[in-house]
Amino acid sequence: MIVMKFGGTSVANCEAITRMVSIVGSKLEERPVVVVSALSKVTDSLYRICDFAQAQNEAGAMECLEQLRNRHLSLARELMEGKLQLKEEAEGKVNGIFDTLKSLVCAVCSLGELSDRVKARIISSGEYLSSNIICFAMNAKGIKTNFIDAGTMIITSDDYLKGEPDMDRICEIVPGKVAEAYSGVDAVITQGFVAAAGDGTRTVLGRGGSDYTASLIGMAIDAKRIEIWTDVDGVHTADPRRVENTRSLKRISFEEAAEMAYFGAKVLHPLTIEPAVDKDIPIYVLDSLNPSACGTAILHDSAIEEGVKSISCKENILVINIFSPKMINTFGFLDKVFDIFKEHKVSVDLISTSEANISLTVEAGQNINGVVKDLSDFAEVHVVEGKSQVSVIGKNVINIKGLFKNIFGSLLQYKIYMISQGATAINLSFVIDRQSLDGVMKQLHKLLFE
Ligand code: ASP
Ligand code: MG
Repeated sequence: MIVMKFGGTSVANCEAITRMVSIVGSKLEERPVVVVSALSKVTDSLYRICDFAQAQNEAGAMECLEQLRNRHLSLARELMEGKLQLKEEAEGKVNGIFDTLKSLVCAVCSLGELSDRVKARIISSGEYLSSNIICFAMNAKGIKTNFIDAGTMIITSDDYLKGEPDMDRICEIVPGKVAEAYSGVDAVITQGFVAAAGDGTRTVLGRGGSDYTASLIGMAIDAKRIEIWTDVDGVHTADPRRVENTRSLKRISFEEAAEMAYFGAKVLHPLTIEPAVDKDIPIYVLDSLNPSACGTAILHDSAIEEGVKSISCKENILVINIFSPKMINTFGFLDKVFDIFKEHKVSVDLISTSEANISLTVEAGQNINGVVKDLSDFAEVHVVEGKSQVSVIGKNVINIKGLFKNIFGSLLQYKIYMISQGATAINLSFVIDRQSLDGVMKQLHKLLFE
């Protein structure tokens, strides 16, 4: 069996879905479990509807909702052209989902209050809509397909907006569900992103979580392969929207892919790698516009050559400098500092320490007021804004002779604020001024890849 996940742009409209259905159709002998995202931009609209509703702007919410309904209805009609019965059934399904959605949104509008639990139900609708329509479309095009509700098999904690998967239960439940759905059909389809807490309450896996769903299912069914279909031809040497002349990488390791995802490459959800590593299942990042291209294979480390693979960046980060003379020759200081970050749920990216100083970076947009306040009880704290972080990623980068000299030598005109080199030797990261980012990325890409 294989898992095939299609992202929002790969299912954006009739043309994209037709392409997707033929890609799936070419792999039926491998028994695909198809995982789909919401149509592109739909999850964003659902978030907007939540904001309108919470602000009791019922007119705004309803307008947005009806636009979404029309988009899905016309898509269903277009895809099921000439198949009267399927068309009617699909329309009925879409309208049913929107009617439920509408009553939820109206309730939120009149209360002006939105719990995470209700929000998860609203924002997960996009995947229920796309998966239902695509299931009908596959059947209309002659691929007999069964539908599985991801909420019955992807079990998480009750953090409704970012459920923590319960790996044991998922491994227990998914194979049975998939086998049951696979009786007498050519393919099965389910939703990415959507999950449920142990008591059946709807949860979601967090933004971009459909990739994660694909790898969780892949892990649970021991898939031969996990395919992530997107609108770029694989993982690139840098983000092609930021740097010119990037190229797609043929193969990278699980570790390299995880570092890239965490350090700013937008191709994969950062947690996608973990379930695949556990079972050593290869992941392929493929281009739905060019299905025969080889894309990027993400494989076990032993299959990967050493060397720099990519440069990623996070454009907007904060540097937090913590100074405490009390730290000299004491135990447990770092512990105390990181406990505070943990308590306030602020996640730290880079760390660099000296005897009385800790510098660390966090992504901007997180609320760090509580952290700063608590740290200030025993240390001097300075927060520096307007910085970016650049990461050079690749297997054993420190084995490359002269790499540091070349990198920093080529950046002499830029100020470097902080450097962090992990002992795993896979990631060399540093901090620069935000306005230098484009220049640094271009310069480095030229040096390392062109
Ligand atoms: N539709 C969800 C999002 O936009 C999940 C995904 O597409 O991966 O975040
Ligand atoms: Mg995505």
